[in-house]
Amino acid sequence: MANSSPVVPSSRVVRCLACGSTVDETPPPDVCPFCGGLPELRHQLTPELGNKVRDLAAERRKNPEHPLDRSGVWRFREIVYGGEHSPIATLGEGGTRLIRLMQIGDEMGIELHAKHEGDNPTGSFKDRGMTVVMSDAVRRGSRVVLCASTGNTSASAAAYATSSGLKAGVVLPKGQVALGKLAQTLFFGAQLLEVDGSFDDAMHLVRELSQDPRVTLVNSANPIRLDGQRTIVFEAFEQLGYEAVDWLVFPAGNLGNCSAFGWAVDDMVNLGWLDRPPRLAAVQAAGAAPFHASFEQGLEKLERVQPETVATAIRIGNPVSFPRARLSIEKTDGVVLSVTDEQILEAQRRLARDGVGCEPASAASLAGLQQLCDRGEVTPGDRVVLVLTGHLLKDPQALLSQNPTVQQVPAGEVEAAAQHLGL
Ligand SMILES: *Cc1c(COP(=O)(O)O)cnc(C)c1O
Ligand SMILES: [Zn+2]
Repeated sequence: MANSSPVVPSSRVVRCLACGSTVDETPPPDVCPFCGGLPELRHQLTPELGNKVRDLAAERRKNPEHPLDRSGVWRFREIVYGGEHSPIATLGEGGTRLIRLMQIGDEMGIELHAKHEGDNPTGSFKDRGMTVVMSDAVRRGSRVVLCASTGNTSASAAAYATSSGLKAGVVLPKGQVALGKLAQTLFFGAQLLEVDGSFDDAMHLVRELSQDPRVTLVNSANPIRLDGQRTIVFEAFEQLGYEAVDWLVFPAGNLGNCSAFGWAVDDMVNLGWLDRPPRLAAVQAAGAAPFHASFEQGLEKLERVQPETVATAIRIGNPVSFPRARLSIEKTDGVVLSVTDEQILEAQRRLARDGVGCEPASAASLAGLQQLCDRGEVTPGDRVVLVLTGHLLKDPQALLSQNPTVQQVPAGEVEAAAQHLGL
């Protein structure tokens, strides 16, 4: 590749979805300076650039020459925010498995794949956005990064901040964060604040604090984080040889992924990587389903709810990215579903039969897919990609509370042990 002509990176536009103003992208704001609305970050892409980036990304994966080539985000650096700059704060994120789910796929009569984002350095997809926003924070000389989190953003922020020499401050809803995530966040040295409230209360606090110019907000209100999350979709299609996919199904909490995946699909069409875009299916937990309720009413507005669900990663009542996510659903002829906690935990156990583990929120995607099959919206022969957002061990308590049968054997009692094992 050494003698190939350098690729000119994409040009980008940050635009407010509320008032339509174009906003300066350096730094990209998480609220519009004119009206307080939510900005989107979009690339101007052509099939010519698409050909080059597709070849470069494939070559870098096979034959990494640069440390960035090992990252599933930065392999696509010509079309990712900040890819032309250095330094880049990377922990080798992305490059996650696309797993063929044979048993479940056969039961449903479809070709089913799972993109397992639990393979990321801190065990969730959050790392893909974190590498982008942390790189930006370092280049801008920020001292402190701040986030509100249901747990995975804080674990990711803590790891990326400490490896970049920054201080991470995280605000979590007290008693609502899975054990693995809490332990990771503390282990990587973040300053932890707990609020006696929900994620939405934590988010509100962090938004106020991030008015301070020394602080960078690393929540997905910051559009450059979503820019990194787009690469989940790029990689999944790359792994499928850019063959058409009928449905892309994923859990939905703060609606960052729903927004990012809509951007990714649109980008892939503009890059000439796709002829037929997949339909998006965003799956919410019934106890935290304001986006689903809005979808049922035509997506005009969103009414916040008091969230409650076993899937703590999506226990969010007032999702920040609603204005972006709405467009993603509308543009892809997408759907928004709601599934019960019981269905989520059943889906989590069902994945185990294909040897796959994920945290409860991630399993919501499979529960949603089952609903689409039952309704006849997914039909035999369809090709479907589920996004499994987080690692099984993020939430050990959710596992142990479902599997109570442990038998006690006195030491040395071989016969008793054999009996328990049915031997
Ligand atoms: C953050 C998170 C989600 C929710 O994603 P959004 O982009 O906020 O909708 C889902 N699953 C896991 C495991 C998460 O960490
Ligand atoms: Zn505006």
